[in-house]
Amino acid sequence: MRKFNFCAGPAALPQPVLEQAQRELLDWRGLGCSVMEVSHRSPEFVAVAERAEQDLRDLLRVPSNYKVLFLQGGATGQFSAVPWNLFGVGSKKADFIHTGHWAAKAIKETRRYGEAQIVASSEDRNFSYAPAADSWKPSRDAAYLHYTSNETIGGVEFDYVPEVDCPLVVDMSSTILSQPIAVEKFGVIYAGAQKNIGPSGIAVALVREDLLDRAMDNIPRSLSWKVAADAGSMDNTPPTFAWYLSGLVFQWLKTQGGVEAMEKQADIKSKMLYGFLDSSSFFSSPVEKGSRSRMNVPFVLADADLDKKFLEESEAAGLLSLKGHRSVGGMRASLYNAVPLEAVEALVVFMADFEARWG
Ligand code: PMP
Repeated sequence: MRKFNFCAGPAALPQPVLEQAQRELLDWRGLGCSVMEVSHRSPEFVAVAERAEQDLRDLLRVPSNYKVLFLQGGATGQFSAVPWNLFGVGSKKADFIHTGHWAAKAIKETRRYGEAQIVASSEDRNFSYAPAADSWKPSRDAAYLHYTSNETIGGVEFDYVPEVDCPLVVDMSSTILSQPIAVEKFGVIYAGAQKNIGPSGIAVALVREDLLDRAMDNIPRSLSWKVAADAGSMDNTPPTFAWYLSGLVFQWLKTQGGVEAMEKQADIKSKMLYGFLDSSSFFSSPVEKGSRSRMNVPFVLADADLDKKFLEESEAAGLLSLKGHRSVGGMRASLYNAVPLEAVEALVVFMADFEARWG
């Protein structure tokens, strides 16, 4: 029996996708072997790669002057790739909006290659909100501005896209494909796959073409967006199974009504859970209203001594992976696209019952 899975990543995948992969595993397309066992340069796999790219372009309405790259090294690889690819021409300074754990990682990595100027931060209130658009100004000398559209651990999501004159770079790992986005507002969008895209092992970057010529001279080949773009993301052997499975997720998303439908679902699911948290006198959300993530919902129990019991009982009730990140504790329910509404309904029923018994 499949259980309801609230893991922050690697996260739940759509059941029809897993079933298709299972059906095709031993004999893919009549080739007598699996998709993992054919050359990435075979016409069959190249067709998979091209279809995945086209479907992603369709889903996000990616303009033709953007490259769609399928990369390795996760989103963490892109923490390094961004400065390597953008600090080669002109300024070696980048602006950052600091919103917590993942922004901090990007900042730290950038400082190995240049300057990271923090132009806005929510550190003053323990990273419990996203700085408002009118509360900060970009600097005048940045090669780009980087922000994290959703802090997966903190559960803080931006409800606006920053307006800047320099290229806008976003780590969209935990919100990509959960709503329509105006790609043309961004210079670079990147995301690790293992939330709304597919299994871990692959990352996606959408890069505006005019930014492909700004790399530092000695950029490692494996981090170069230009090399990846020129080689159709096949400069070396790509993670073929992750790419194939991501492609199946894109097809599934299209059958579900695309990112517009995902946005509606995310709204319904997250409102249901926040509504319960706000009505409860035992559970609460540490995130300020207005910045609450639709994808990752951290919450705490009034009595932390009951955390262990909560996790034991929720697991037993078929609700998986509700433990908060090790750096912050508490609980977290991740509500990505593949988490059905029934999962959130079951979670709320369980929490109400837990509160009645222990609260
Ligand atoms: N950025 C964000 C917002 C994330 O949530 C994560 C991982 N959970 C990362 C970056 C790092 O991703 P990866 O493990 O793919 O390197």
